[in-house]
Amino acid sequence: MALLEFTPKGIYCPPADVYIDPQKPVRRALLTHGHADHARWGSKHYLCTHQAKPVIQYRLGNGAHIDSVAYGEVQSINGVVFSFHPAGHVVGSAQIRVEYRGEVWVVSGDYKTEHDGICTPFEPVPCHVFITESTFGIPVFQWKPQGEVMKEINEWWQTNKKEGRITLMMAYALGKAQRILKYLDPGIGPIFTHGSVESVNMVLRSQGLKLPAGRKVTTANVHNAGPGSFVIAPPNVLHSVWTRRFKNASVGLASGWMAIEGAAEKRGANRGFVLSDHADFRGLGEAVLATGATKVFVMHGQTAEFAGWLNEKGIDAIAVKEDTTKN
Ligand SMILES: [Zn+2]
Ligand SMILES: [Zn+2]
Repeated sequence: MALLEFTPKGIYCPPADVYIDPQKPVRRALLTHGHADHARWGSKHYLCTHQAKPVIQYRLGNGAHIDSVAYGEVQSINGVVFSFHPAGHVVGSAQIRVEYRGEVWVVSGDYKTEHDGICTPFEPVPCHVFITESTFGIPVFQWKPQGEVMKEINEWWQTNKKEGRITLMMAYALGKAQRILKYLDPGIGPIFTHGSVESVNMVLRSQGLKLPAGRKVTTANVHNAGPGSFVIAPPNVLHSVWTRRFKNASVGLASGWMAIEGAAEKRGANRGFVLSDHADFRGLGEAVLATGATKVFVMHGQTAEFAGWLNEKGIDAIAVKEDTTKN
């Protein structure tokens, strides 16, 4: 029996009878972070980090029973020792370390290796077996430093303002939206937010995150979001009535997928910015090697390619088959 098993409900730890980021309701769930493909509704008990709890509670509702721990704090369940370690992905995100009878496994969850100035930076956790994500596990995915990308975004906003356009940026409500907001130059013009972005902002502000003031777009104030404004909204509203209210807007998409030529245009946007809350190919490789793991399971995205690359490095790596959405 392996310490962790891949089951249709998610990653399962038989001796502790707990699941990590389960896809179906279970009795006890350990959550790496609050993105919808990891924190799902319906389980009886949840455990996450103190910093991840407010967003998860907000998203799962007040009825969800959520306990939380500090990074590094040890939690024993049926003799299995669990602890949460910074993943650098979004606020409160964690890798989960599982130790039992001298064997150590780590589940990475989603992670990025570049420090974004918002969440606790990624820390490699030594282990025997590492379960890594590989959303961007091929060499075409190579990120520029965040500072350079934010400079490009502010310059683009300036240009749009000069040309009398609204700047409309599509970015995930949890993570990317706050990263962009934090580094926008509020001197350029007014900032507006979509309701789902503003809700997450409110939760994170209550935890002490400092962000420039953005006004939530409402029916009453939408006319104030004129030329020169910066509007930030989640990508799923790109082709909605909500977005069509902004006439003469230049539309941007901030995502790791923008590293693929023509990706922004293909999705109906004018500009793509390569900005991700996941590690790029090089970051993934460095992170895996830093754990010292001799066995690696690869999940999400470019699993076969990344497992193959690790095999060439002499690591016993296996691509895990699954069908989950990326976030
Ligand atoms: Zn994910
Ligand atoms: Zn995520």
